Amino acid sequence: RAGDLHQAMALAQSLIAGPSAPQGLVWLVGAGPGDPELLTLKALRCLQDCDVIVHDRLVDPRILDLARRDAARVCVGKAFGAPSVSQAHIHDILIDAARAGQRVARLKGGDPFIFGRGGEELAALRAAGISVHVVPGITAAAGCAASVGAALTHRDYADAVTLISAKGRGGRLPLEGRALADPRQTLVIYMGGAAIEAVSAQLAEAGLCAHTPALMIENGTRPQQIVLRCALNELAALAKAMPLAGPRLLIIGEAARGADAARIESLVAMAGDRVAA
Ligand code: SAH
Repeated sequence: RAGDLHQAMALAQSLIAGPSAPQGLVWLVGAGPGDPELLTLKALRCLQDCDVIVHDRLVDPRILDLARRDAARVCVGKAFGAPSVSQAHIHDILIDAARAGQRVARLKGGDPFIFGRGGEELAALRAAGISVHVVPGITAAAGCAASVGAALTHRDYADAVTLISAKGRGGRLPLEGRALADPRQTLVIYMGGAAIEAVSAQLAEAGLCAHTPALMIENGTRPQQIVLRCALNELAALAKAMPLAGPRLLIIGEAARGADAARIESLVAMAGDRVAA
């Protein structure tokens, strides 16, 4: 009406383009140890809301089935012995998707901040100016202990629980030089499945009694869960005799003695053929 054709064209074009593309964001979401019922409501809401799910190999397929049906799924899984996507590449995938305006769920096994490199992803996203939120998850220690009724702390026998990784940077065993021999402490060892002999030797060297009760839980909270309960000095030989079929968690200390034997036997019976083999 003002006769300014040039400005009218610009105005019309901006109305056609709509509001400027929204900035995407990333949720670092804990998927828990496997059982889909151990997801938090917040994690479920994220899965149903996000445009892209970037997930680890550790995430149970039944959980991925709960995600928005049309969400893109990107596996950046790290599996022992298999080639994996580098951490820097994972950061790039998350940053690029968010910059393209997508809502991204970075779905990780257990809790994102317990041996999940969630801290590194959080820092990289923040440095790139991407908004990022964290949804905690049930860590393997809590899920596995619950599945066999082993209380990780108890006023009678354990005042402390230590979550520790058997895999450090550059192949280092982070157990070295730590106070591991306290009999009133429960040790929960992550990523110890492949290095079980070295782990057991290190625990013995640290002064832990050879008869300390030990549990090895493979595929905790999943249908194929198996549990081995023995003394610390038997652990490596027995665990090595069982073919590795999933993530393994070690629980060492009096807490392991308290594990529900009937429950363990039924789990082992379910996995019968494999254990017999
Ligand atoms: N962020 C995860 C841990 C990632 S490190 C968490 O909070 O649980 C991977 C290690 O976690 C595995 O090597 C194994 O020791 C342990 N783990 C994860 N899920 C497991 C499961 N369902 N059963 C047994 N161990 C599990």
